[in-house]
Amino acid sequence: VKTIGLPDKAVVTTCAYCGVGCTFRAEMRGEQLVRMVPWKDGKANRGHSCVKGRFAWGYARHQDRILKPMIRARIDQPWREVEWDEAFAYAASELNRIRDNHGRGALGGITSSRCTNEETYLVQKLVRAGFGTNNVDTCARVCHSPTGYGLKATFGTSAGTQDFDSVMDADVILVIGANPTDGHPVFASRMKRRLREGAKLIVIDPRRIDLVRSPHVEASHHLALQPGTNVPVLTAIAHVVVTEGLADEAFVRERCDWDGYLDWAGFVSQPRNSPETLEGVTRVPAADLRAVARLYATGGNAAIYYGLGVTEHSQGSSTVIAIANLAMATGNIGRPGVGVNPLRGQNNVQGACDMGSFPHELPGYRHISDGPTRALFEEAWGVTLDPEPGLRIPNMLDAAVEGSFKALYVQGEDILQSDPNTAHVAAGLAAMECVIVHDLFLNETANYAHIFLPGSTFLEKDGTFTNAERRIQPVRKVMSPLNGLADWEVTQGLANALGLGWSYTHPSEIMDEIARLTPSFAGVNFAKLDAAGSLQWPVNEAAPEGSPVMHIDGFVRGKGNFVVTDYVPTDEKTGPRFPLLLTTGRILAHYNVGAQTRRTENIAWHPEDRLEIHPSDAENRGLKDGDWVRLASRSGETTLRALVTTRVAPGVVYTTFHHPTTQANVVTTEYSDWATNCPEYKVTAVQVAASNGP
Ligand code: SF4
Repeated sequence: VKTIGLPDKAVVTTCAYCGVGCTFRAEMRGEQLVRMVPWKDGKANRGHSCVKGRFAWGYARHQDRILKPMIRARIDQPWREVEWDEAFAYAASELNRIRDNHGRGALGGITSSRCTNEETYLVQKLVRAGFGTNNVDTCARVCHSPTGYGLKATFGTSAGTQDFDSVMDADVILVIGANPTDGHPVFASRMKRRLREGAKLIVIDPRRIDLVRSPHVEASHHLALQPGTNVPVLTAIAHVVVTEGLADEAFVRERCDWDGYLDWAGFVSQPRNSPETLEGVTRVPAADLRAVARLYATGGNAAIYYGLGVTEHSQGSSTVIAIANLAMATGNIGRPGVGVNPLRGQNNVQGACDMGSFPHELPGYRHISDGPTRALFEEAWGVTLDPEPGLRIPNMLDAAVEGSFKALYVQGEDILQSDPNTAHVAAGLAAMECVIVHDLFLNETANYAHIFLPGSTFLEKDGTFTNAERRIQPVRKVMSPLNGLADWEVTQGLANALGLGWSYTHPSEIMDEIARLTPSFAGVNFAKLDAAGSLQWPVNEAAPEGSPVMHIDGFVRGKGNFVVTDYVPTDEKTGPRFPLLLTTGRILAHYNVGAQTRRTENIAWHPEDRLEIHPSDAENRGLKDGDWVRLASRSGETTLRALVTTRVAPGVVYTTFHHPTTQANVVTTEYSDWATNCPEYKVTAVQVAASNGP
């Protein structure tokens, strides 16, 4: 502040890190950002913030940013800087060549959950209308795609049911597979306030997260389950609800499919699903499972919050469904203080999913095979759309290795670092003829790129993000893009080089198009957003001011749908060679693969990823705190330092994935969710041994 001087202007905008979506006043002096002040009128944060949003914005001016487009014919050649027009023309000629030689199925794109709704919408439009394929996916594939599947199957739409304020009406808060203190800190503070007022807390997590015991907050129950056993834990809880007569049958009869409920109740009440039978699998004492079931079902308003510890499993979709079943069976849905709430990791993962970034869905979660929906988009875009779903990210990589997938446009995502089984990702990228990376930095994926298109930060663009509570919030330009173009303009440049003739002059026009084509966004426009500050979808004729709580009088799909979720153990097994189970997560100071936060002063707070290991497991291996260890799995190995702690149970180890020097995903497996291919990051059989360091 001293060197830049006092601010002379300010713009209110939205944080680009996590799914809480805090509002900030960005205070500027000329084109220099002086400070980010949490904005008191922000409905998601009410004047609060965390260390990422408040301090970790220095990456926007970091020397590593690439500001000129670059091209090269082969990845072993040096980059050549070019002007934007040449980069677009070269990209279009390569895409056209590959489409002519190999067909449109050889092309695909990946959108970013960090970009705005408008930018994400344009990428899926470019792939569908320009590339001529539904091979479009988003990084939600590796985080919350099971939420998309599970909540759509049960409730009819893929979104959290409540606003954040709703937690203040909860009597029982059940947190499963989430670590809000690190992952969603501002919402965690609100949750803790409610807990200090007397609400009861249940934590289901293999690790003793901070929320289990922090100043003035202590969980009534912490179920430290064996990694990979979410489904049997939830089934055992459901068994108690049904067999002890704790279900809200009046609610179920009125609001849900009764026959489906009877099928589900018959399944969960079988003796094989009792807490006593399942405690050997889950390693959770039956008495604790029974106590948690009684508290959740009879403790008043009960709200469930979950994160990637639910979704990133081979049974991720089954777990989301099991959570929804439990909420419906106990009537904990459709009013403040209850509900099913996925805590979204990235700032706009909700929005990326809303905007049709999946290979099977157009914006608004409408299946690509639905004729009337397709006709609506065909008329608006002036193209014929393929009615068949396209390839997901892992399928694109598999097809590349097999030789049928040749060209990929990746916007704002470092798939080499963030996706599972790094060696397989590298092999897929290396096999492609044209990889276009659109990003702020030359990330790990860019090592395999032929075309690099510089990206812009959230400070350099207008648009909207949608947070974990479906709140659409304005992103407002604070400074001009250093690279000359905002990301939506880059995608438009690429589209026009392919002959699409787009003529958007401002992101508000893109939102107007989204609103025309997407019923849940029908009442959204920039003027209304600026006046209201934010709007929670659905925003339409029935709810012109938005919808803080969903499914009040009826589910989006009509009757709530119970789906039986049987337990299928993961194929990833421990054994003599790989005796420990690795699970992964995040830390407060960093965000995802750290591309942004590692380029800020936050690096000092968490300069390296560490391996948490229980004292008994450390002693067995002759390890002390801070020792270097070799972490190996069937996929690969890496080296990092040990953190000896009782946070993890014996037999379980844990690490973060913020640093490319560690590359935690070198060791994760190729197993994934049965319904969505979301990777099973949370369960990897590993061995740990002393090492001399990298
Ligand atoms: Fe808020 Fe999340 Fe940004 Fe922190 S990272 S300031 S909690 S939106």
